[in-house]
Parts: sequence; C-alpha cells; structure tokens
Amino acid sequence: MLSLRHVGKTYPNGAEALAGVTLEVAPGEILAIVGGSGCGKSTLLRLVAGLEGASAGRIALDGVPLAGPHPAIGIVFQEPRLLPWLTVAGNIGFGLTHLSRPAREARIAAALARIGLPDYGGRWPRELSGGQAQRVALARALVVEPRVLLLDEPFSALDAFIREDLQGHLLALWSDTRPTLVLVTHDIEEALVLADRVVVMQPKPGRITQVLTIDLPRP
Ligand code: ADP
Ligand code: ADP
Repeated sequence: MLSLRHVGKTYPNGAEALAGVTLEVAPGEILAIVGGSGCGKSTLLRLVAGLEGASAGRIALDGVPLAGPHPAIGIVFQEPRLLPWLTVAGNIGFGLTHLSRPAREARIAAALARIGLPDYGGRWPRELSGGQAQRVALARALVVEPRVLLLDEPFSALDAFIREDLQGHLLALWSDTRPTLVLVTHDIEEALVLADRVVVMQPKPGRITQVLTIDLPRP
C-alpha cells in the first residue's frame, strides 16, 4: 500500500505546488491522476519517486516512510530517456545486473516479446521511433518488477493511434506482476481506459476534488 498523508511541497522559490494531499493506492491498483497544467501532478510523482523531498506530511510504502529513491518504486517520463550508449537489450537489462547472464537474457527476451519488438535487442535507441522507444522505456521500468510504477504523461508526446497501442503494451507488461501504477495524464479518455480509479486535481495547490472509481474488466 502506497500512502500519502497531508503531503505538501513548497519549492525554494516559494511556489506552493502541493498542500494537504492525502491518498492511498492499493497493491495492484491502477490509479490515474488528471488535472490541468500546474496543479502539482508531476510534483506529486517526483515526491513519491524520491526525486524531491516533501516539505510537509508523510509518504510511506507498506507503512515504511520513504526517504529518497526506493528500489521498488520506478518512474517513466514523457520522454523515454533511454541510455544512448546501450543497445535496446542493454537498456532493458540495465537494472538486472544482479541476475546471472542466462536469467537476465531470458527476462529481456520476454520483455521484448511483450512489447512486440522480439528482434530489437541489438538495435540502438537512435534507430527507434518515438513509440518504440517509449515501449522500451516501459519494459525497462517493469522488468525489475517494481511494486509501484509512476508514469508522468507517458504517452502524451505520441499520436492517438500509437498512444492506444502503447496503452495495450502497458497493460500487457503490467499484468505479469501487477504492480501499483500511478498514471498522470491530461487525457481523460486514457485515464478511463487504463485506471481502476481516477483522481482529479485542481489548480489550487494539491487539492483533490473528486474521486471516481471506474470498474473495468481486466484482460
Ligand atoms: P503539473 O504537473 O500538474 O503541471 P507541476 O507539479 O509541474 O504541475 O507544477 C506545480 C506548480 O509548481 C506549478 O506552479 C509549477 O510552476 C511549480 N513548480 C514545479 N516545479 C517547480 C520547481 N522546480 N521550482 C519551482 N516551482 C516549480
Ligand atoms: P511537467 O508538468 O510535464 O513536468 P513542466 O513544463 O511543468 O512539465 O516542467 C518541466 C520542468 O520544469 C520540471 O522539472 C519542473 O520541475 C520544472 N519547473 C516547472 N515550473 C517551474 C518553475 N516555476 N520554476 C522552476 N522550475 C519549474
């Protein structure tokens, strides 16, 4: 269980990005956070990822307070941020160096199959389309079997057709280990397609105005 209690964030320049956010996300739940630009969605993810410190409140995973990045919490951004000096397989296997070589290669191959790129292990990031690169970024994030994966507008740079395709790949990858997903998006349709629950944030710092629960059959 990921929990936030009265979480606030004021940046050093005085900008109050979040105030009083209280939220719980269950294991295996897919939560979407929607809301206009500037209402603190990215800040919320960066706090949970440990990339920024909260100014107030408490963030915990299974009751244990988080302080900084946690190995069981991953994040995917709008841009794939693949490492250009590694092949596609190298990128996907980046977090698997603790495994034996055969075990690592088996995981990488399974992930490549999941994202529909079985023959792309030896390719370089620069050879990929935007949609392919983001599929690799999703595979890289999920192959380490995080308990929580944070997704910050992961598909918004892609056109509608490719976006739909990637939503399917995300669900396929997710279904292997069923981590908690927290998806920030301003595409309400995407939220409805992917999420079990949708949280709407308001421009007023961190205010969560509405919680809709959407029950969707999972593949
Ligand atoms: P969203 O993701 O919903 O667009 P953000 O979390 O990016 O919102 O930003 C929330 C508010 O905090 C905005 O007013 C933004 O300008 C401000 N903000 C975000 N990051 C910083 C930062 N590093 N320093 C100062 N202010 C920031
Ligand atoms: P997003 O909301 O998709 O993260 P933004 O354009 O809001 O994109 O922010 C891009 C980057 O700029 C983020 O790292 C954010 O922290 C930073 N940023 C946003 N607003 C401000 C601000 N007012 N002052 C300083 N940095 C900011």
